Amino acid sequence: ELAAKTAAINADTNNPTIFDKIISKEIPSSIVYEDENVLAFRDINPQAPVHVLVIPKFRDGLTELGKAEMRHGEILGQLLYVARIVAEKEGVLDGFRVVINNGVSACQSVYHLHLHVLGGRQLKWPPG
Ligand code: ADP
Repeated sequence: ELAAKTAAINADTNNPTIFDKIISKEIPSSIVYEDENVLAFRDINPQAPVHVLVIPKFRDGLTELGKAEMRHGEILGQLLYVARIVAEKEGVLDGFRVVINNGVSACQSVYHLHLHVLGGRQLKWPPG
């Protein structure tokens, strides 16, 4: 837990992130879905049998959801719709969770907006 918080504090909110290299395929990832604007790939440290990250290919100021502006409406909608496509592809449409960690207090460690799509086990509420 402390390691996650430290990573969140140290994460640079302006520089490029590791997700740029995943988008450009410099770093390999297990891609679940891809289109012009959105990429979905398996989380390297899965917290559930299904754990996929859904990200915009163009960060465009969206380091975190808290930076969203009205002009981001279209991509925000696309991300949520792709979360649903991922849930269906992964066979968890009957039970899945979409999470966005925003900022240090939520342990955000990568400052490129991403939706976590989690499923494949009984998810507890409230989350930690
Ligand atoms: P946290 O690190 O606390 O989960 P975030 O919400 O910022 O905070 O999530 C970043 C996610 O990116 C983490 O779940 C992490 O496992 C994942 N991740 C980091 N590097 C990679 C990578 N190379 N491939 C796939 N997932 C990655």
